Amino acid sequence: MLRARPGEKVRLFNAADGEWLGSLVRLSRQGAEVVLEARLRDPVVEPGARLAVAPIRANRLDWLVEKAVELGVAEIALVPTRRSVVRPERIDRLRAIAIEAAEQCGRLSVPALALHADLPAFLAALPAPTTLVVADEAGGEPVLPALAALSDPVLLVGPEGGFAPEERELFLARPGTRRVSLGPRVLRSETAALFLLVAAALARPLA
Ligand code: SAM
Repeated sequence: MLRARPGEKVRLFNAADGEWLGSLVRLSRQGAEVVLEARLRDPVVEPGARLAVAPIRANRLDWLVEKAVELGVAEIALVPTRRSVVRPERIDRLRAIAIEAAEQCGRLSVPALALHADLPAFLAALPAPTTLVVADEAGGEPVLPALAALSDPVLLVGPEGGFAPEERELFLARPGTRRVSLGPRVLRSETAALFLLVAAALARPLA
C-alpha cells in the first residue's frame, strides 16, 4: 500500500461493509484517505472454527496463522501452557499476517487473534456451554464424527512438549470437553491445528 500513488484504484474490505473499490486521495505513514466509488461485494457472514493453540516457534506460528486464515478460522486464541517454550511477543505481527492472508484468499473478515495468560485462565473464561475439543496424542474419539455432531466447539491443540499432567486433569474435569485423535502419529502442533481445521470444514461444509 505504501507504494501506491494518489489517484490509483484500491480495494478495501471488512466484514461489516463488504468489499469496495475506491480511489486513493492521500497516503502517508499515518494513514490513507480513499474516496469510495463502488461496492464490489456485499458483506456476508463467514462462519469458521475457533482455534486455541499453545504458542510455538515464530516461523511455525506465522505459517500456522496464514494457513488457518485460508482455511476459514474465525478466531485464534494463543494459550501458553506449562510446556510452551515460547511466548509470542509480536501479536501485531501475527495480525498483519492474518490481514495479508485474508486479502490473498478473498475473505472479508479477519479472524480475531488474542493472547491469553495461560491455560487455566483460558478455560475459566470459556462460557460454560462451550464444547472444548482437545487434540490428544494419547488418544480420543475419531475426529470427523465428533466434529460433525458438535456446533461451534473450540478446538484446542497443545505445545510441542504436549500437555502437562495437571493441564490434562484440568481440561478433562471440565464438563463438555471431548478428546479427539488425529491418528497414530505424533504430529507437530501446527500440523495438528490444520488437521483439526480441515476436519471441521469437512464435518460441516459451507457453500
Ligand atoms: N507430547 C508429545 C511428545 O512430546 O511426544 C508431543 C506433542 S505434539 C508435538 C503437539 C500437540 O499436537 C499435542 O499436544 C496435541 O494437541 C497435538 N497432536 C499431535 N499428534 C496428535 C495426534 N495423533 N492426535 C491428536 N492430537 C495430536
